[in-house]
Amino acid sequence: MSKILVVAEHQAGALKKSTFQSLTLARQLAARTGQGIDFVIVGDGIASLANELTAYGASTIHTVEGPAYASYLAQSWSGAIAQVAREIGASYVVSSSSTTGKDCLPRVAAILGAGMVADCTGLAGEGAEILYKRPMYAGNILATVRANTSVVLITARGSEFDAAAPEGGGGTVQAFAAAEVSSGSRFVGFDGAESDRPQLGDADVVIAGGRGLKDEENFFGIVEPLADALGGAIGASRAAVDSGFCPNDMQVGQTGKIVAPKLYFAIALSGAIQHLAGMKNSKTIVAINKDEEAPIFQVSDYGLVADAFTAVPELVEKLKAL
Ligand code: FAD
Repeated sequence: MSKILVVAEHQAGALKKSTFQSLTLARQLAARTGQGIDFVIVGDGIASLANELTAYGASTIHTVEGPAYASYLAQSWSGAIAQVAREIGASYVVSSSSTTGKDCLPRVAAILGAGMVADCTGLAGEGAEILYKRPMYAGNILATVRANTSVVLITARGSEFDAAAPEGGGGTVQAFAAAEVSSGSRFVGFDGAESDRPQLGDADVVIAGGRGLKDEENFFGIVEPLADALGGAIGASRAAVDSGFCPNDMQVGQTGKIVAPKLYFAIALSGAIQHLAGMKNSKTIVAINKDEEAPIFQVSDYGLVADAFTAVPELVEKLKAL
């Protein structure tokens, strides 16, 4: 029986939410095809993460472990994932369309000579006749595509899939001895932004600011206390990033991160279509803008027409009092 192989993503010793969003897509595929689900997890010191995955209804959790896999390297990781996929006869390999997923999965597809569906937002078609929905041309069209190969690699756009919940244990952890892939490159270092805040893509709460906050000092002066009060991540419009208020890893939108938190605050940002493309699936959207005609109010659940420089500090005070 063919299998659906889900690539588990992890960072700093914890499984990423994107793993369980990919699993949701895999479960939809399983319901349509009757195939079982396996996980593959690559890294070093991943035993406890693999054990955690046993609670999610997969039959086998394949671990590719060792110092050679301690840090992500496209060539060695894609080589290892391809070997597992081949060994178990996977007909689908699913990962998230995170930076790592986008980098790794096309390489796995190339190794396997398989079709690749990038940034999948949902399934279409009937029964086992699977079609895939995905945005194309910078989100200007939503295409429905077919993969003509027997093995299909899919990256799932996380914001379109809720994180899957545990679904009964019983999965077995199995070490996979991957043949070493000579990569021609070596890991030198990871220069990640240090922050105690949740990752923008994983956060339940995102506080985003826009160009209306005028400069860097005001941006963080307004956005940060609210993010602190709500334990949220900080996001920004592209105009705020381009104006130098904040680093570009905070950008939300078509050319930034795609997020779907439980709560999204849009502060002094207009709600341009390219921004909405990155946050419109947030569960609850709160907009604070002094222009009552701002397009952000068309997608917001709660809107406050007010000057952010007075409204946000007031809100923070009230939250602190609570
Ligand atoms: P503005 O449009 O200038 O809006 C500022 C808002 O702040 C206004 O609504 C104003 O009423 C309000 N305001 C001002 N002062 C206050 C105050 N004191 N209190 C309350 N409200 C106040 N944009 C993205 O965000 N993400 C993307 O990924 C992205 N990708 C793009 C890709 C392409 C190909 C292109 C062409 C554009 C892209 N853009 C993207 C840019 C996008 O079109 C907008 O220019 C941008 O989102 C505007 O940012 P903003 O809302 O912060 O600024």
